[in-house]
Amino acid sequence: MKAGIFTTTIDKIIATGPELKHFHFAFEPGTVFDFDAGQFVNVLLPGPEAGKTVKRPYSIASAPLRKTGFDLCLKLVKGGYATTYFWTLKEGDKVQIQGPLGRFTARQPLPKALIFISTGTGIAPFRSMINDLLEKGTSCEIWNIFGNRYEDEIIYKDEFDALAAKHPNLHNIFTVSRPKTWTGEKEYVQFMLKKYISNPAEKNIYICGLTNMINAVEATALEMGFAKTQIFYEKYD
Ligand SMILES: Cc1cc2nc3c(=O)[nH]c(=O)nc-3n(C[C@H](O)[C@H](O)[C@H](O)COP(=O)(O)OP(=O)(O)OC[C@H]3O[C@@H](n4cnc5c(N)ncnc54)[C@H](O)[C@@H]3O)c2cc1C
Repeated sequence: MKAGIFTTTIDKIIATGPELKHFHFAFEPGTVFDFDAGQFVNVLLPGPEAGKTVKRPYSIASAPLRKTGFDLCLKLVKGGYATTYFWTLKEGDKVQIQGPLGRFTARQPLPKALIFISTGTGIAPFRSMINDLLEKGTSCEIWNIFGNRYEDEIIYKDEFDALAAKHPNLHNIFTVSRPKTWTGEKEYVQFMLKKYISNPAEKNIYICGLTNMINAVEATALEMGFAKTQIFYEKYD
């Protein structure tokens, strides 16, 4: 679908961690917004100067089958204009968005395995893609390698655990680099790639988050024998 500008209403805000929030945005009745899992929207916010708009991209965190709205998950950036603004918003507030945008989507035909690697809110497009693929009954093996600093930052953990219990082809690997009481994996995501994935044949890797992490994962994947054409990424910074 060609991108357009839409007015949405925030109808749910859930604080999911110390500096993390999940937002649900509802479209006005009758709105048609067809997007592909993995795409993003620009939020259009009133800028500091009168009449000027501030625009920031955010990956859609819900699957396209939810037609009446969509989810975003945001991390508060200290001193950041848009996220500070979002932290003042309440349920019922209106936000303009532009979209759908972007080409970070699962390439067809699907290979035997898809490996999604993210840190922090980089999980957003993968929550959309994983739900979309599972709702469509994919037989593809899906690896969801998700890194966070602290265990209380693992957004959507319960939901991914429930999905994996229902779909044996979903493998969640959560890793926490600065654990408090966490007894699971503790190494960075690139080491999880090396630990759990062997033989690059018929596997594609999708990486989302900050550039340093993406570069580290890509270097590891290339070392392991993945070709550049098997690696796709979305950089947040
Ligand atoms: C395609 C795309 C999708 C994105 N999806 C998401 C998403 O789903 N959730 C999400 O939270 N963010 C996402 N981002 C990042 C988002 O667009 C903003 O950059 C981020 O929210 C900061 O905006 P801000 O206006 O609050 O900070 P700004 O006022 O733009 O920046 C303030 C300062 O913080 C630094 N900074 C910017 N972003 C970060 C960061 N993430 N971590 C640490 N420092 C930072 C900047 O370099 C700057 O110095 C996405 C970015 C892209 C390109």
